[in-house]
Amino acid sequence: HKYVYDFAEGNKELKDLLGGKGANLAEMTNLGLPVPPGFTITTEACKAYLSTGEEPAGLAEQIDSHLTALEAAMGRRLGDPLDPLLVSVRSGAKFSMPGMMETVLNVGLNDESVEGLARQASGAAAGGSAGSDRFAWDSYRRLIQMFGKTVCDVPGEEFEHALDGIKRAKGTSNDLDLDADDLRSLVEAYKKIFNKHTGRDFPQNPREQLDLAIRAVFDSWNAERAVLYRRQERIPADLGTAVNICSMVFGNLGPDSGTGVAFTRDPASGAQGIYGDYLANAQGEDVVAGIRNTVPLQELEKLDKRSYDELLGIMARLEEHYLDLCDIEFTIERGKLWMLQTRVGKRTAAAAFVIAGQLVDEGLIDLDEALHRVNGAQLAQLMFPRFQLDHEFQPVAKGIGASPGAAVGKVVFTSARAVEVAAEGEQVILVRRETNPDDLNGMIAAQGILTSRGGKTSHAAVVARGMGKTCVSGADELDIDVPQRMFTVAGQTVREGDVVSIDGTTGKVYLGEVPVMPSEVVQYFEGNLDPAETDDALVKAVHRIMTHADARRRLAVRTNADTGTDAARARRFGAEGIGLCRTEHMFLGDRREMVERLILARTEQEREEALAALLPLQRADFVEIFREMDGLPVTVRLIDPPLHEFLPPLEQLAVNVAVAQERGEDVAKEEALLAAVRRMHEQNPMLGLRGVRLGLVIPGLFAMQVRAIVEAAVECARQGGVPKPEIMVPLVGAVQELETVRAEAEKIIAEVTRDCDVEVLIGTMIEVPRAALTAGQIAEAAQFFSFGTNDLTQMGWGFSRDDVEGAFFWRYLELGIFGISPFESIDRDGVGRLVRIAAEEGRAARPGLKLGVCGEHGGDPESVHFFHEVGLDYVSCSPFRVPVARLEAGRAMV
Ligand code: ADP
Ligand code: MG
Ligand code: MG
Repeated sequence: HKYVYDFAEGNKELKDLLGGKGANLAEMTNLGLPVPPGFTITTEACKAYLSTGEEPAGLAEQIDSHLTALEAAMGRRLGDPLDPLLVSVRSGAKFSMPGMMETVLNVGLNDESVEGLARQASGAAAGGSAGSDRFAWDSYRRLIQMFGKTVCDVPGEEFEHALDGIKRAKGTSNDLDLDADDLRSLVEAYKKIFNKHTGRDFPQNPREQLDLAIRAVFDSWNAERAVLYRRQERIPADLGTAVNICSMVFGNLGPDSGTGVAFTRDPASGAQGIYGDYLANAQGEDVVAGIRNTVPLQELEKLDKRSYDELLGIMARLEEHYLDLCDIEFTIERGKLWMLQTRVGKRTAAAAFVIAGQLVDEGLIDLDEALHRVNGAQLAQLMFPRFQLDHEFQPVAKGIGASPGAAVGKVVFTSARAVEVAAEGEQVILVRRETNPDDLNGMIAAQGILTSRGGKTSHAAVVARGMGKTCVSGADELDIDVPQRMFTVAGQTVREGDVVSIDGTTGKVYLGEVPVMPSEVVQYFEGNLDPAETDDALVKAVHRIMTHADARRRLAVRTNADTGTDAARARRFGAEGIGLCRTEHMFLGDRREMVERLILARTEQEREEALAALLPLQRADFVEIFREMDGLPVTVRLIDPPLHEFLPPLEQLAVNVAVAQERGEDVAKEEALLAAVRRMHEQNPMLGLRGVRLGLVIPGLFAMQVRAIVEAAVECARQGGVPKPEIMVPLVGAVQELETVRAEAEKIIAEVTRDCDVEVLIGTMIEVPRAALTAGQIAEAAQFFSFGTNDLTQMGWGFSRDDVEGAFFWRYLELGIFGISPFESIDRDGVGRLVRIAAEEGRAARPGLKLGVCGEHGGDPESVHFFHEVGLDYVSCSPFRVPVARLEAGRAMV
């Protein structure tokens, strides 16, 4: 079995086997780029080791023979006392994992070869110069430090302390001021630390160093933080990591050496140019560690023009080869450039669109590929409102951008206060050290949430994302004092009621009110920014890619809208109809009283009067919506929530009645209302008298709604419009329910459309598991299905969305029971299966049955792909999600 690949044997397609780093080192080697020779131990060797606890048979021999070949090629032997070969041992999984073991550099150094390295560096046959001695001892102390920390779990701070101690004694903060003698004594100190923690001396045998380091990389796959990271990122647990053994090149050999990182384009904006950092006289990890200030990469041109030009040439070459933004690690050893890593680089949402557009312009990729390179989550990010920042506003703290958006409000420190102040009509920002389930009401009331602890998966972050609330978490510069109702930051005190502004995208926190404006991308979707006129590169790129997505997609995109205003906006955003128009709001406000009359009606006449009063109001609402959606289908859902939701709450009513009785007032009406509320009280309203059940129990209710819809359509048609109403019955579980409603509705439709030809469809929601499982029967009576995936998820899992998200979802996410809330992204295996069954059986019973989805999943990228796969005709989502759904529906095709 082949467990070891020379860099020259691999290529970039072998990431499963060689890991990302190894595969790309191989690719660069085969492109003829200057990569220090080396080899990669495969993920399979790692997997075999992890399953048995021992290196698989043959691995040791293969490492031997590759090492021998490497030594021959380099003309040096590993750890040779006179002229040592040194190597780095680098972990590298298929997906880059920041929680993994780091790299060990300078493997092969010991008390003897350190002298050999000094000689090598001085270029002299005998005796090193002062500079070379310094370099060799610096390399040795780095080895003990990295090896101690990453291979033997010696606490890194101890090494840091020893280093700081020597610097302090020398009166400097710059490690370059330490000379060879300082570093020699540092090595002694490091060895003591090593011995103290491991109970053994630092291994002097180079081959033992190598083997222990390899083993440690294997083991790091199952380190706690790596396991946790994988769970959260939904990276499979059984991939294993590769190990790269790479001959060392030295950036710490003097001022003509150095190390750096570079991007082929700006990963923040996508702009073309040279982006990167360089640090002279340093080894790789120094750049990231920030021990000295780096200089912008452009400065390298002055320091070493030849290497600089070569680097730019290589960067251009890599882009042409990878057809994408690449990021790069390089080292210059005495004027000779070496490439140590490359990969397709991470980028911001804006850069993703801009770069995809540029690459099309440059003829490197086609539009399908461009579509592939961006995604709906990025587009959604670009649609959040922005702070309009100028010099006046400097952030006072920076936390983690946990849930995007721009929120401004008065600071409050408790959930209760948040609710109170918000009830006064103020915008509030809830500030907590961290949140817990008790803070839920405050989070709902707040404009945004700011915490001083916790990361992207903290309670605050998870819940805020679920609610679409702006959240900055882990802003640890904030010193929060809840009892005093204040926090201090950057020397300033912020008290309850003071205004702050938080940016959930960047994690930045500002004092005072920063003005908010719609993003350029939203201005474009609104039709206020002409892509042909603007020179905004992002808007141009978004326009181009969206146009292609629309041309490509099979799924139509509709919107969930209950008002003419929402409908109009969604139409500007590209909606091709309404997939869900809820009628509940048409029973609220001033109309509540009419609903009360309906519920309290004692005679048929009273009920009919109540319904007759509601009819014209409903009709007017529908007319407005049909007008805004002229020519496009509008699915209207008949009333869904339990009627008691339209009545006052029980406790409040009971108190009112008691008080009024005390005063001797006439309370007959209130008492009747109270009795009705008591009668209608349900333990579990979500599973109670709602949806179609209401229609079957309250005579005339659905009939009135159907009449309002059809009369509105007729009115629009008479005025020359093209209304396309679709009547949707909620919560159907059995075909008989639908048949009953339909028989009544058809009579009304026939009557109202007698002398005006309007086509009205009647269909049903599929949102009760039983409906999904009997979809074949239900399809006999339905002209369309619309999947209500919110209820289907609630009833499929048996948990109530309103109660569980804040109560325990964070724990489920932490445990990896879900990777993401099933209310956010469709649960393919369970709830998704119900959708699939219903789609198949529905279509089998009624070929051409129109299928859509109107749950919130309709705007979720992952879910859109699923709905495409199961063959739905459209998805419907909130107006702001319409562009996201269009983009993802296009992406589902490429
Ligand atoms: P990471 O995945 O954390 O970037 P790397 O394996 O890339 O870890 O290594 C850490 C640092 O050490 C990088 O800056 C890298 O360029 C440098 N490095 C790795 N191998 C060598 C080597 N053989 N010679 C010189 N520097 C190296
Ligand atoms: Mg690296
Ligand atoms: Mg529902």
